[in-house]
Amino acid sequence: MIEQVEKPTPMRLKKEIKDRETFEKYERFHIKTEFAASRRKVPNPFYPRVKKIGLAKYLIKEILHYNIKLAKKEYRGALLSRPCIYGVFSGRFGGFKPQRELCTGCMRCVLEFPEFCRVDRNPEFRTLGDSYWLPEDPTRFSFSAVAIVNYEAETGKIPIKGMGYKGPFAGKGWDSIWTDMSEIVRPTRDGVHGREYISTLVDIGYKPKFISFENGQPSIKSRTVQATVPILFNYLPPNLNNDSIRKSIHSAAKKIGTFYIERPSNINFSEKKEFSTLYKNMIPLLTTRDRANLTTILEHAEIVSYSIEEHNELYSQIRSVNPNIPIIVRIPFKRGIATKLKTLLNDEIDGFHLFADYHGKEYNTTKNPSFIKDLLLETHKDLVDEGLRDEITIIASGGIILAEHVPKAIICGADVVAIDTAILVALQCRFDGPCRSPEEGKIKSDRFSPQWGAQRLTNLIASWHAQLIEILSAMGMRDVRRLRGDVGRAMFNEELEKEAFGEIEVRTGA
Ligand code: SF4
Repeated sequence: MIEQVEKPTPMRLKKEIKDRETFEKYERFHIKTEFAASRRKVPNPFYPRVKKIGLAKYLIKEILHYNIKLAKKEYRGALLSRPCIYGVFSGRFGGFKPQRELCTGCMRCVLEFPEFCRVDRNPEFRTLGDSYWLPEDPTRFSFSAVAIVNYEAETGKIPIKGMGYKGPFAGKGWDSIWTDMSEIVRPTRDGVHGREYISTLVDIGYKPKFISFENGQPSIKSRTVQATVPILFNYLPPNLNNDSIRKSIHSAAKKIGTFYIERPSNINFSEKKEFSTLYKNMIPLLTTRDRANLTTILEHAEIVSYSIEEHNELYSQIRSVNPNIPIIVRIPFKRGIATKLKTLLNDEIDGFHLFADYHGKEYNTTKNPSFIKDLLLETHKDLVDEGLRDEITIIASGGIILAEHVPKAIICGADVVAIDTAILVALQCRFDGPCRSPEEGKIKSDRFSPQWGAQRLTNLIASWHAQLIEILSAMGMRDVRRLRGDVGRAMFNEELEKEAFGEIEVRTGA
């Protein structure tokens, strides 16, 4: 029997055309990158040194050994360039004046000739970061977060590293977490190359667990804003900030569709921009000094924040002007913070920004400070036990300097992370001494084009976004929100060690 095909009515045809147009307009979220060349050359992290007498003795020995063969050019060339195959010793004066910029840090010279070859850290490289960015740990000698962030900010691409890696497989801090990348045993979600969409959208604010109604209307509503990526730009104090940095952050946040945290007093009101443009993508960090402008700010901002010290003064004022605006309270991240958070939740707080110091350590704690990962795990668990976790947002900051730190922080319990010193490194600002906390850190005075800065930061987040998608796709996840607190997606070195030692004890006992 031949099925009769119904002739489409003009109305239906019109609808189909409209649907097709809407579909064609659909665009997958993508951060547009553009090459943003480094404004200053990143110095080579390696600094090979050769003891001249040792080298001369070695050359004499080699000359005597090869003797007649040295009449051939290739023998002479090989003799003078050894032991480096990367041309460090191939200049006019050979190893007596090494071409240090060519060194890759392979350590072959040190292994072959420890008596006269040495590879140190380039002292110039030190100014690009502090001990957290350039750790002294000799096992991480070749690791350079500065070079990685610089590459990401320049190109917006994913750096490919790890070939021939000979270092340890676990370390301190974030390096003690291994993410689950078992795409072989799990159907992969191919988000990077386009078969499936993986969402990195996050909601910042309060999400009620249940909908309750009063007179047919929902009595409790969500108070949330959405960011396209779970990465915010953290507030940088005046000693780590300037106009070029501020403008770069503002434009980058706008381009990406995320937020930056800034003091309203730092906004140049004389620029005569519309308030809605000024506050777009900004989380104003309010103080009591902003009281005069509070109504204007609350009219235009989508979300606000303030420090815990200002809570009693500001909370009721904000709620009386705008009861629906999400409020984020900034609190120094310390052990046992969950008790404090629970008390604050008696007021209608929508989220907390828990900040560790720039090295990821418990804030203002000198005696055995915990790392942010442990603080997050503890706080998340405490709030889950109390049944309070799902309603609020936790923004975590401090010590997040590489792309891999974002999913790791989310696995440990953060909804969103905020970056700080990574902004400075991406913009090639030079540190003036250690930069452990907002109070202590300083940068050398510097000016650059905000367009260039905005592109560098956009590229950085584009690269981190691509790496986040890569991780989610390998985990078989379609939404970054589902990763929050999912510790089953990671292995923790400390736990594995405990397990292994436990096994050893059992075996010895048997
Ligand atoms: S470390 Fe490797 S690249 Fe650097 S000088 Fe030595 S041999 Fe050459």
